[in-house]
Amino acid sequence: MNTALRDGAAIPEIGFGTSPLKGKDAIRAVGSAIEAGYRLIDTAVNYENESEVGEAIRRSGVERAEFVVQSKIPGRDHAYDRAVASVRGSLSRLGLDQLDVGLIHWPNPSVDLYADAWRALVDLQRDGLVRVIGVSNFHPHHLARIVDVTGVVPAINQVEMHPYFPQVALRAEHERLGIITEAWSPLGKGMNAYGEAPVRDAAAAHGVSPAQAILRWHVQLGSVPLPKSENPQRQRENLDVYGFTLTDDELAAITGLARADGRRFGGDPDTHEEM
Ligand code: NAP
Repeated sequence: MNTALRDGAAIPEIGFGTSPLKGKDAIRAVGSAIEAGYRLIDTAVNYENESEVGEAIRRSGVERAEFVVQSKIPGRDHAYDRAVASVRGSLSRLGLDQLDVGLIHWPNPSVDLYADAWRALVDLQRDGLVRVIGVSNFHPHHLARIVDVTGVVPAINQVEMHPYFPQVALRAEHERLGIITEAWSPLGKGMNAYGEAPVRDAAAAHGVSPAQAILRWHVQLGSVPLPKSENPQRQRENLDVYGFTLTDDELAAITGLARADGRRFGGDPDTHEEM
């Protein structure tokens, strides 16, 4: 199943997260994920595993055209020329001629050059080096600024999203602008959302695992989850969410797990620096 993007392209409804996989473990995990059926693979310069992702793709024997490989420009490379060089570096490590999705990893307030990095991505798309361009960890005011500078709306904003942080307001802004939400830490890594009653009850009602209930919640809300697992069985489980449908009440109950204080467990893009 695919999700349509504003620029006419489409990406799978569920992707594979590759952080913090490295070296042989990364090649093995990405390889088994490809065997399980993942075609959207999420990496980043800062994950230091682009070479391994490229290697796993080549070893899989699956046609290049089937993959949507996405990577991210780090904060230290937001100046225009450095952003162009960063994407060229990703292509070289991945062993690809074109990046399917290029994202800005974080806005990085102390650098304050994310609009330059966005101009670079707009030009790289025009020149055919990147097929789809987007951002990650952007607040509405960051989105407004890059649209103001270039007139180009990103196709994707990849943000922290899970039952404890359902991004209700940001997703409404995305819908208004025609941006697809990708969800990082979609299972709420290590926070034990699996044990929460709305997740447990929905899973029991449909005879699925708690992780499957959460991933189905993402799919029905229209966000594209990027679960990471190095376990082949869990990799398959995380893609197998099409045999059941959550009710509106179940969806609302899972969204209702949002923390009352609105606190996220990752960094706030207005203060978090990731170079
Ligand atoms: P996650 O996918 O929510 O959680 C991963 C954890 O859940 C791992 O410990 C994994 O263990 C476990 N798990 C996976 N499937 C499971 C299942 N079916 N049942 C039980 N446990 C399961 O969180 P994440 O790894 O933080 O995020 C996913 C991806 O998002 C990353 O790999 C990365 O690609 C992306 N990301 C992006 C940003 C950004 O700033 N843009 C930030 C963070 C992450 P096993 O491996 O042992 O299965």
